[in-house]
Amino acid sequence: MAFAIYEEQFRYFLKRNNLKFTKERREVIAAIAIQRNHFNAEDIHQQLKKQKSNVSLATVYRTIPLLIGSGLMTETTYGGERIIYEKIYNKPHHHHMVCINCGKIIDFTCPDVEIVQNDICQKNFFLSTEYRLEIKGYCQTCRKKMKNKKMNRTFIQEFK
Ligand SMILES: [Zn+2]
Ligand SMILES: [Zn+2]
Repeated sequence: MAFAIYEEQFRYFLKRNNLKFTKERREVIAAIAIQRNHFNAEDIHQQLKKQKSNVSLATVYRTIPLLIGSGLMTETTYGGERIIYEKIYNKPHHHHMVCINCGKIIDFTCPDVEIVQNDICQKNFFLSTEYRLEIKGYCQTCRKKMKNKKMNRTFIQEFK
């Protein structure tokens, strides 16, 4: 079960850093374990409330650097005002397509991208430790909606 693995990895990280595995931290881990692919601090807090936990949003924010440090989750580049996180435990390196209309995030992997970034780094004698690719645009649902709106407008204009 995801939770057990998460708990173990987090416990190990805390121990290494002389930090305590408190009840609050345990509850935050439980809330993270059942999040969808991408989530924000508010989502974690909402889940905690559902779990009847008293952990505050401030505590969630304070716990996030620990969760990132332990390698359980990471920040994604997308966000605007809100930072989006995602779980990375056992997840292959991937990239994001972000819909600028509804905020939907689609994960994708592409071996060609890996090859290209390797090439670029080699040519520049650069040792890469991390890279991200983010494509912004409109998802299929939003594109369909936009197409319909456009058609309606033409329709109205034709009958004026
Ligand atoms: Zn969309
Ligand atoms: Zn992702």
